[in-house]
Amino acid sequence: MNLNELKIGQSALIKTVGGDGALRQHFLDMGVIPGAVVTMVKLAPLGDPMELRIHGYELTLRLADAEKIEIDTNIPEKKAVQAKPKKHIEHPGLGENGRFHDKTKETPLAAGEVLTFALVGNQNSGKTTLFNRLTGSNQHVGNFPGVTVERKDGEIKGYPNTLVTDLPGIYSMSPYSREELISRDFVLQQKPKAIINIIDASNIERNMYLTMQLLEMNIPMVVALNMMDEVRGNGGYIDINQMESMLGVPVVPISAAKNEGIDELIRHAVHIAHYQEYPLRQDFCDENDHGGAVHRCLHAVSHLIDDHARAAGIPVRFAASKVIEGDSLILEQLNLDKNETETLEHISLQLEKERGLDRSAAIAEMRFDFIQKICNLCVIKPKESKEHIRSSKIDRVLTGKYTAIPMFIIIMFTVFVLTFNVFGPFFQGLLESAVDALKNLTDSILTRRDANPVFHGLIIDGVFEGVGSVLSFLPIIVILFLFLSLLEDSGYIARVAFFMDKTLRRIGLSGRSIVPLLIGFGCTVPAIMSTRTLPSERDRRMTILLTPFMSCSAKLPIYGFFVNAFFPGMGGPVITLLYIIGILDGIIVALIYKKTLFKGEPVPFVMELPNYRLPSLSNVVQLMWEKSKDFLQRAFSVIFVATIVVWFLKSFDINLRLTDDSSHSMLAMLSGLIAPLFRPLGLGDWRICTALISGFMAKESVVSVLGVLYGGGVEQYMTALSAAVLLVFSLLYTPCVAAIASVKRELGAGWAVSVVVWQCAVAWAAAFIVRLIGILLGLA
Ligand code: GDP
Ligand code: MG
Repeated sequence: MNLNELKIGQSALIKTVGGDGALRQHFLDMGVIPGAVVTMVKLAPLGDPMELRIHGYELTLRLADAEKIEIDTNIPEKKAVQAKPKKHIEHPGLGENGRFHDKTKETPLAAGEVLTFALVGNQNSGKTTLFNRLTGSNQHVGNFPGVTVERKDGEIKGYPNTLVTDLPGIYSMSPYSREELISRDFVLQQKPKAIINIIDASNIERNMYLTMQLLEMNIPMVVALNMMDEVRGNGGYIDINQMESMLGVPVVPISAAKNEGIDELIRHAVHIAHYQEYPLRQDFCDENDHGGAVHRCLHAVSHLIDDHARAAGIPVRFAASKVIEGDSLILEQLNLDKNETETLEHISLQLEKERGLDRSAAIAEMRFDFIQKICNLCVIKPKESKEHIRSSKIDRVLTGKYTAIPMFIIIMFTVFVLTFNVFGPFFQGLLESAVDALKNLTDSILTRRDANPVFHGLIIDGVFEGVGSVLSFLPIIVILFLFLSLLEDSGYIARVAFFMDKTLRRIGLSGRSIVPLLIGFGCTVPAIMSTRTLPSERDRRMTILLTPFMSCSAKLPIYGFFVNAFFPGMGGPVITLLYIIGILDGIIVALIYKKTLFKGEPVPFVMELPNYRLPSLSNVVQLMWEKSKDFLQRAFSVIFVATIVVWFLKSFDINLRLTDDSSHSMLAMLSGLIAPLFRPLGLGDWRICTALISGFMAKESVVSVLGVLYGGGVEQYMTALSAAVLLVFSLLYTPCVAAIASVKRELGAGWAVSVVVWQCAVAWAAAFIVRLIGILLGLA
């Protein structure tokens, strides 16, 4: 029987895990290994993917992938072994100045040397919360070398000469996702002085899988057991002393959210980094486990590759387990000769034969075996945590068969109304009046000082108009991000990805792309930024290229303007129709991409569904601050320059003389040059072209430019048909400069230019079709 046939509520034992390559390794790393018990929780409302419970957490999986996993519904009775609070075990005192610290062997770093730390942990383990606690406001954001994945560094509060780097949340050190590779390269190449490994103590089995691999890297490490407040609150217990002695590294119970244990964690981290206290243990295979096949294989391979690993600067034990798993990147770096490669293969084959499992599964099982030993000895789990019960109750509605999609629509609608109609305009108004006041003040100062009129015009009509109008979007963007981060941190977005996966797969994306696409209805800029969370490069690129098709809120003024002038009383239907045209176009383009540029499958949908949690206030504030900074930087670089250029073209004629009549300006001339392109659409007037060009700066300005150039009476110059054509063109053409700048930042200049050209082509084609239909209907 296969996993996809499991009935809701039924449990089974995993027998074999099929498939191959990185995906299979990812399954194994997530705990889907032979011998593990799975329980079917539910199917997504559309029937795919499925939600499972395994190793005490919720995992989603597509049915097609589940089909490759063989199960057995006969689960052999296993005596539940549970740790009992035992007689007192002496505290090993690792990472302390205690009496167990062997002072004769210590080799402390020089006093002034910077202690660099890598903060590593699973997604949703509380990494961001801990990082904010450790660093406070001493953080700086950059990119990892060579990739545009955000990198956050910061100094630990009160400890100058320290630097913590927040690595992307990962489940394993296999090169499955970009994040995993980045984290691995960071640890291997940047060689941090120590690792802070954060573990969600309420989900210890899965979280420790990463710990096992980090210990193999032979770098001083401290384990931070997070969420201890929840463990305690549910009557659970963890024997820290025992765990510390089994792992051979200091273990510190903390609660990042409640700010408990952080000082102790810092003291231990600084101590092990300064004294370079290596993990006492890297060897988790045992000669008595299943006849010791894995143990013998790992040690044989360790000896075999020892010299190569040293030469390549890769920790030997880590290299050994990776080459047995068949990690091609590590194999390449080791540069084994033919004989050694063959020997490696022989040893691995012997392992498979003796163990009765394939090599990757055998290694993964060995790690989970050791984790099980730790749990049996150190962890008393509560029956079922309050958080999990609460989450299941919430999920009955939010991912329920009949309620999921209606609730999703209600939640998104509420978020958009609150952002665009309630809070956004309020703060926007405040900011606009502040900018206006500053502008008037500057204006009067310049007038009083009798400033050069050209300079005066540049400052007031150029900088203040241009940058000011963009600046007024800051509140909307920050508020939209606030809501979306609340949805994300609480765990809801993961559910949306879960029940939208099937729909998005049809157009070649996975459920995870839903987030950027939704944000795109608000603003393309944050939408593009949010694609960074997508696990595959292919999906990320494709999603970035599709977000501009989601009609952004800055286009609403254009719709409003033309509906008033040409389709009075039909605002609702016309605007809804436009949104639908945008989405349909997006779907068509996605289907084209799927067949051409982005062949292949969307990422497999193997994802954790974390318990719902109340997001922490400090995280939210920190995020809003970052987004604002980001946006302001852009407003004062790209947009600032672009504004000045447009102002210049509008104010001067070809002989560089200041002109009052803008139809003589360079802008009018340039617009005249492109006017022939728009003639087939019936939009050959230079003023319309100018308006559309100015829309490139910010979509709202299409309306204001038309207003100025036509002096208000647009109805005399255009027909209803040309208005409809213009609406469709505005809906689809090039997103604004800020959005293009984001595309450039994420994908590079080449893609940014292609987006401009491609969107214009699509818009032109769609507008032309509308005009043709209009002519056929005799509306011209
Ligand atoms: P990340 O994905 O690893 O960066 O995790 P976050 O820092 O975003 O935390 C995920 C969720 O867990 C958030 O809602 C946090 O508020 C919450 N959280 C983090 N640390 C703790 C903790 O110690 N106790 C509890 N109860 N919740 C926590
Ligand atoms: Mg985070």
